[in-house]
Amino acid sequence: MRNGADLDSLDGKQQQQRFNCWHCGSELVWGGDHDLDDYTQDYDIVSNFQCMNCETFVEVYHKCQ
Ligand SMILES: [Zn+2]
Repeated sequence: MRNGADLDSLDGKQQQQRFNCWHCGSELVWGGDHDLDDYTQDYDIVSNFQCMNCETFVEVYHKCQ
C-alpha cells in the first residue's frame, strides 16, 4: 500500500500527499521541495510533482505562515 518508503528518513516533516494528474488522472510523483526565501515573500516552499504518464509538471506553492 505504501509508495516511497525512503521518505520515512525525512522524519515525518514531509507529509506524503497524493495528487492525481489534472490531465490524465494518474498519480503524480513528488520530485522535491525548494525554499523560496529569495524569490517571494508570500510563499516559502515550492513542491514539484511530475506525472509519469503524460509528463505534466505541477508546482505547489506553500503560503508563508
Ligand atoms: Zn498525467
